[in-house]
Amino acid sequence: MSADPAEPAEPAQPLPPLPTGADLPPLEELLEHATVVAQPMRTRFRGTTVREALLLRGPHGWAEFSPFPEYGAQESSRWLAAAIEAGWQGWPEPVRTHVPVNATVPALPAEQIAPLLERFGPVPAVKVKVAEQPAPGTAPDPRVHGVEADLARVAEVHRLLPDAAVRIDANAGWDHATALEALRRLAVVVPLEYAEQPVPGIQGLARLREALAAEHIPTPIAADESVRKETDPLAVAQAGAADLIVVKVQPLGGVRRALAIVQATGLDAVVSSALDTSVGIAGGVALAAALPRLPHACGLGTVALFTQDVVDPPWIPDDGRLAATSRPVPDGEAMARLRAPEEAQRRWRERLAGAYQVLAAGE
Ligand SMILES: [Mg+2]
Repeated sequence: MSADPAEPAEPAQPLPPLPTGADLPPLEELLEHATVVAQPMRTRFRGTTVREALLLRGPHGWAEFSPFPEYGAQESSRWLAAAIEAGWQGWPEPVRTHVPVNATVPALPAEQIAPLLERFGPVPAVKVKVAEQPAPGTAPDPRVHGVEADLARVAEVHRLLPDAAVRIDANAGWDHATALEALRRLAVVVPLEYAEQPVPGIQGLARLREALAAEHIPTPIAADESVRKETDPLAVAQAGAADLIVVKVQPLGGVRRALAIVQATGLDAVVSSALDTSVGIAGGVALAAALPRLPHACGLGTVALFTQDVVDPPWIPDDGRLAATSRPVPDGEAMARLRAPEEAQRRWRERLAGAYQVLAAGE
């Protein structure tokens, strides 16, 4: 399928249906083993240092429901559909036994990168966070913020792991001019595997991609923040906004729906986590293992960003990859230790019930 904006993508096959009616387990059954865990993080992400997740247990295994705090019932219903698939339906057959996984380097001063990369062990690819903004009310730190710091971070990663592919993730933090300048200079440091969401918006990506082509800068563009709901991937492809898309199982409503969505775009996909616990990571691994093409390592090594995880040992890549042949089972002691306070248990049960109502209504 062409990504030429003048040539509309072919109509997508109907997506696998969301669970509703008889396919929807009773709410009481979903809630029977529901436990909210709060996993502490090593570094601040999305403005928090604790990641809460509601874990469920179905006949096929454990499942995770962890829509981000600001998401309402409609959006969260897709995350619940993914959890129901994981626990009550099971995943499609894999076409590979292992999936390659990248390491992630947050916006740190360059000299702090070596010990962090050691925790990941050997990896085929490293994602480097760039375009970090100072916390509100604080002054920028030149070792962390700004294009010079970004260049230094990328150069340090390439120095430490010269054979690893290096990709950057700006989380939509650059404007067009800054992105163009940064990518121009980064391309001299190392040929980037791709640049993930350098600027906001589908149109912004399309414009930047055109500008890079005009300057013969060969850095591929990946859309991440522009892919949040299930209609977004096709819109990205139709606008010619990206060379590849970053997909997460929970927001796309499960492994089968994500597979169908990726195939409809005709673009390659990088499977990423939504900062899931090891339980949710397994869903990402199932998707990556089922994709017909998987040319890039996946962003599924994020359990390393937690100081503790419900699964012991946590699902951290071994030799740069995760196995798709087994599913993680939470450890009883770790579940008890990481159990969130009663307020959070109540709040998440309400969120699940709200998402459930959306599915039950067939929306
Ligand atoms: Mg990203």
